[in-house]
Amino acid sequence: MTRFIDVHSLVRLVDETGVPQFLEALADALRDDFLRWREFDKKARVASHSHLGVIELMPVADDGAYAFKYVNGHPHNTQVGLPTVMAFGVLAEVDTGYPVLLSELTLTTALRTAATSAMAAKALARPDSRSLALIGNGSQSEFQALAFHALLGIEEVRVFDTDPHATDKLVRHLSACTPLDIVRARSVAEAVRGADIVTTITAYQGHAAVLTPGMIEPGMHINAVGGDSPGKTELHPGVLPLARVFVEYEPQTRVEGEIQQAAADFPVHELWRVLLGEVPGRESAQQVTLFDSVGFALEDYTALRYIQRVATERGIGQQIALVPELDDPKDLFGLTASGRRRAVLRRAA
Ligand code: NAD
Repeated sequence: MTRFIDVHSLVRLVDETGVPQFLEALADALRDDFLRWREFDKKARVASHSHLGVIELMPVADDGAYAFKYVNGHPHNTQVGLPTVMAFGVLAEVDTGYPVLLSELTLTTALRTAATSAMAAKALARPDSRSLALIGNGSQSEFQALAFHALLGIEEVRVFDTDPHATDKLVRHLSACTPLDIVRARSVAEAVRGADIVTTITAYQGHAAVLTPGMIEPGMHINAVGGDSPGKTELHPGVLPLARVFVEYEPQTRVEGEIQQAAADFPVHELWRVLLGEVPGRESAQQVTLFDSVGFALEDYTALRYIQRVATERGIGQQIALVPELDDPKDLFGLTASGRRRAVLRRAA
């Protein structure tokens, strides 16, 4: 049988664990999997584009497990009452192809993205970073603030969104569940001024210039999350040459990330190499670092495996017949009414 984790089961799993604890455990698991990067069969995700958004399939496997995520990105969705990003995914055994887990991945995507952002910032930001500017205060934003608080000791968050209701929601949530100092900025420039770390996590179907070169200060770490598809970017192209740039999986980010705006040979470094100590991360306190995040399948593999382990330990989720359980593995027809009738007739004869 396949374990099925719907939204309610995942919420139970997260609530029982606690969001900060879940983020910390996920960041540890992500780091472990990034450190064994070479063991994975990797490919850029398969994307189907329309004028309003994108639908993507994200596969990855190691020797033991295969994972894929279905995910969309439709920035206009919130106007029709749907989230911008919705997702689900599957974990399967490589040796048999048997699907062991079918799980919601919408809430999980917000958690794994925040955990990945914080894991990258831990390796790249100045260790004395205490303030975070959070530009884009939608679905992903609380998780980002909580991950940077839990994993990096961020104490102050400066928030800005073009939609003041989104900022109202973020401020309400963060003030209820964290001791963070929350500063409401009147513009991106005001939020960013003097910040140690800047997260851009906006949704816009086009080339936006949320951050411009004049806003970038020495020593900043930029965590650019919302530009994640061809034709969908957040940073003015002039920001890129100011920074040492890090990516998840270069072949995918060249097409989808902020660096789609740069020359094909613009220098970037894959994050796993920094974690393994093969290339330096930040080279000086004055250097600007940029994590050009688009979201890579390995992050969902890690999340699915973590959910499978914890849900199994705690008995969370349902067992469902996603694929047939057969007495005779060659008798699929026996599941049908015609097949069952033949069996009854045979027994009666
Ligand atoms: P959302 O629609 O819930 O929130 C996006 C917010 O950005 C909205 O509140 C909107 O008003 C705001 N915004 C748009 N343009 C802005 C601007 N110029 N300045 C300030 N705010 C602006 O979306 P979400 O689920 O929070 O996702 C945010 C983005 O992150 C999306 O683009 C999504 O595709 C991306 N994303 C990336 C990853 C990754 O791994 N890199 C993972 C998940 C989501």
